[in-house]
Amino acid sequence: MRRKIAAGNWKMNLSFSEARDLCSEINNVKIPNGVEVIMAVPSPYLYVLNAIARNKSVSIAAQNLHSKDSGAFTGETSHNMLSSIGINYVLVGHSERRQYNKESNAELKAKVDIALANGLSVIFCCGEPLSIRKKKTQDAYVAKQLKESLFHLSAEQLASVIVAYEPIWAIGTGVTASPIQAQQMHKSIRGLVSKNYTSKVAAQLPILYGGSVKPANAQDLFSRADVDGGLVGGASLDAASFTAIIKSF
Ligand code: PEP
Repeated sequence: MRRKIAAGNWKMNLSFSEARDLCSEINNVKIPNGVEVIMAVPSPYLYVLNAIARNKSVSIAAQNLHSKDSGAFTGETSHNMLSSIGINYVLVGHSERRQYNKESNAELKAKVDIALANGLSVIFCCGEPLSIRKKKTQDAYVAKQLKESLFHLSAEQLASVIVAYEPIWAIGTGVTASPIQAQQMHKSIRGLVSKNYTSKVAAQLPILYGGSVKPANAQDLFSRADVDGGLVGGASLDAASFTAIIKSF
């Protein structure tokens, strides 16, 4: 059976006291059996929130890391800073970082490599902009993102990766990909993994959907054959909404 995952991405939101309260509330949720909860929180809060999240089904993730070990990179966060405070997960390739920080597939490949080489698991985000969806070339677009940043990995390394398909036109817009659109892309991604690795590797890879997931649509999305959970932005900032999403499996 594949892992079921509800991941939240808080982005650059919440004061420390709001973050602490939200983390405590989610930590106290009775998480359904077999479901893992991951919250990607702002970097100044990682250490303290990781101490609060004692529920064994809840993990705290970083939203980014640098592609080098250390050095003169003001404002950046290294893999060692994360792992030395007990963080096990990091987001790589979120569309906002691709857009605002001009992170290329090649740079994301380097981030994936340094994270995995140092024991961090990666939540790798991919997804097409609206212009690509309109041209109906989204499968090829996402395939290129995966090929250029992930498919050089060994099967063993890929086992420490979670893929999050996040169509950019659905992120923070209130527009959700329909469960049929999500399933189609997830199936296409799993097919690519099967082709580049094996069907067994593909069958084990968790693929999350992200893009305006909310309590009202989570169950329908998560019930699709190749949708193993969600990466949730806005709705993860509200304890009641995120709890409802966690309980949607
Ligand atoms: C995200 O930021 O990864 C995301 C999916 O955001 P939202 O749920 O707000 O669309």
